[in-house]
Amino acid sequence: MARCAVETCGRWCPDLLVNRGIGARVDDEWFCSRACIERMARERLAGTPRGAAGLPAVPHVRLGALLTAQGSCDAATLAEALVAQRQSHRRLGEQLLAMGAADAGTVLRALATQFNARCLPTFDATAVRQAPGGLSPDAVRALGLAPISDPVEGRVRVACPAPVPRRALGAFRQLTGWTPEVYLVSDEDWAAILSNYGADTGDTTPAPQSEFVCTTSLTDAAARIAAAAARGRRTTVTEARWDDYAWVRVQGPGLVEDVCLALADARTTTEEAPWPAATTSR
Ligand SMILES: [Zn+2]
Repeated sequence: MARCAVETCGRWCPDLLVNRGIGARVDDEWFCSRACIERMARERLAGTPRGAAGLPAVPHVRLGALLTAQGSCDAATLAEALVAQRQSHRRLGEQLLAMGAADAGTVLRALATQFNARCLPTFDATAVRQAPGGLSPDAVRALGLAPISDPVEGRVRVACPAPVPRRALGAFRQLTGWTPEVYLVSDEDWAAILSNYGADTGDTTPAPQSEFVCTTSLTDAAARIAAAAARGRRTTVTEARWDDYAWVRVQGPGLVEDVCLALADARTTTEEAPWPAATTSR
């Protein structure tokens, strides 16, 4: 006999019927119905956020100190930039670029040193039109990073603008199982990556590895997770969180479905859904 894993349900079902496809297994627990999977998903999503395992913290080195140490910027120019920054609210790198006090490549290389990453001073964004790594454009947007190569032996190159989104990287690593090698790109190249990533994965090319749905509604997210788990019959549900996002991947035989919940708008946990069901689907 199998017992529904939702405590308040606790329905029993003979193994014979379970084997014939009654209910569904999620993470090796049996659920009697889609409604019960949805209850489990709701509770998980509303639970205390577990921080995504980030990459090791990087010692904080100031960009200005790096640039002056490299001789790319003199102390007087740096002081001038720091004063101007208070008015402009630009980041220091942007401020130096705006003043013509440093060139983009120098700033990017210093930022890469600061964040313990590599950098690509120029990047041809058309290289990501086929969506290397198989993420959806929505996933790339939510994560703030993009795979720029297909994974090789579990390693994948990813591009992002400064600052490196460490928590999102941790979530990316946790859910894909790939080790990201981080390359910083300029803000302009990042904008080009966002508009090019996956642009050529039309009907004629293989579907991306997964569907990725981003929603601000906990109810909507739980329903989507439950629908995928019920469809897959035997699935695992992996969850990673970063900043204000929870990313849940439902995986089963021939099935990968990603549901991303933007937690900033879904913080309260009342039983009925007070949130607008604003959904952006690919
Ligand atoms: Zn049940």
